[in-house]
Amino acid sequence: MAALQAAGPSTRREGVPITLIIDDPAPLVNVFWWHAADSQKTDHPTQQSGEPVARDVPTDFLEEFAEVIARWGVRGKFSVLPYPAGLGKISEGWPGADPSDLRRWNRIARERVMPFMDITPEILTHAKAVDIDTLSLLAENERDWASHQTAATLTPYIACALRLLNEVGLEATGVTSPWDFGREVEPDYRAAIRRAMKEVNRRGQTWYFLHTSSRGTEFLSQVVHREGDDWLVSLVSQAGDFLWRTMETKEAGPEVVRSVADLHLTEDGRNGRLAELFHAGTPIVFHTHWQSLYSNGRRTGLKALEEVGRRIARAWGAGARWVTCDELAREIAAGQAHQSNRVSGSV
Ligand SMILES: [Zn+2]
Repeated sequence: MAALQAAGPSTRREGVPITLIIDDPAPLVNVFWWHAADSQKTDHPTQQSGEPVARDVPTDFLEEFAEVIARWGVRGKFSVLPYPAGLGKISEGWPGADPSDLRRWNRIARERVMPFMDITPEILTHAKAVDIDTLSLLAENERDWASHQTAATLTPYIACALRLLNEVGLEATGVTSPWDFGREVEPDYRAAIRRAMKEVNRRGQTWYFLHTSSRGTEFLSQVVHREGDDWLVSLVSQAGDFLWRTMETKEAGPEVVRSVADLHLTEDGRNGRLAELFHAGTPIVFHTHWQSLYSNGRRTGLKALEEVGRRIARAWGAGARWVTCDELAREIAAGQAHQSNRVSGSV
């Protein structure tokens, strides 16, 4: 499928932009296993259903995901962890990682995901922080570590993540925060994102994802820094991760797929959180997680995403327009993405 043609700044764009943020993907492993192991203080973490948390995600699942986004033209952002769970570099692998499987994952991400989705690091490990000089793991996780950092220490950390992605041909356009990384030091974090992105990718116009809010319909993504032609946009997800619950239940039939899809958008296009935003004319930024799509092996979340993609196409047609996160950030910076055509009397 041909990539979306980027419209020039003077081109009038029709339809409400919609972008999907996908957090936590990594080659071969399910980083959520490490989160659950840490919070449950065990090497045998379980889901709420009692079943063991899957530690691995087969590369075939990435292929299935690539098919779904191509089929429905879904665009947005796809995180890739550069040093997943602290195991090793994405470019070199780690003990237990099949080198050809790792290369295959990286190739699918590059050739079949990247045409639809911007790539971002979700900083290095989304687990324990790393000493970037020795690549040894620190005692704190990245979220706790970030809370007492400055622009001077965050810049090389982010730059290291961007370089590791470049080594496998996955050049990032923005940065994703693991958990709420950087929230306590956000002015320093923003400065570090700008500096690292300029230093490594020669990019003065960039964006990041840290904040979510499911209340109201006011458009919350905005430019948070501007200097000459350079800008930094904060993209705010305005819908919760409804697919998360597919991890926690063994139910995986069509009823569950439909009911989870309904929370985003009902078949008739009238109800669900995405419909609330759409009918308010609010550009739609929503997010989910790799583990939510994988559903501990059942892949119910991916089926629900496919159903949401189908419903969006069928119910809204040209009224909605899938964009990547970078495309939306550019529209925001150009003053072209804002709440429009309020529809009174909608749901
Ligand atoms: Zn995450």
